[in-house]
Amino acid sequence: MKPVTRFTCEEAFRRLDDYLDRELSDVEMASVREHLETCAACTREFTYEASVLTEMRRKVRRVDVPPDLIERITRQLGES
Ligand SMILES: [Zn+2]
Repeated sequence: MKPVTRFTCEEAFRRLDDYLDRELSDVEMASVREHLETCAACTREFTYEASVLTEMRRKVRRVDVPPDLIERITRQLGES
């Protein structure tokens, strides 16, 4: 059995943004997810943060982005 790091509310809370952006390691992603499954308070906060972020991204998508910028980013993503 793999040892699972259990986050406290504070630790999970601090990682919410990165969790939403999927910028955490697999282990951290799993630990945050596990905390959210067992903690109603953090789930509420997470749901709120997620809705704010989703709304923000919707607004960003409305902005016209130059096609060459998208191409450049896509290329960089492919290289990493
Ligand atoms: Zn919590």
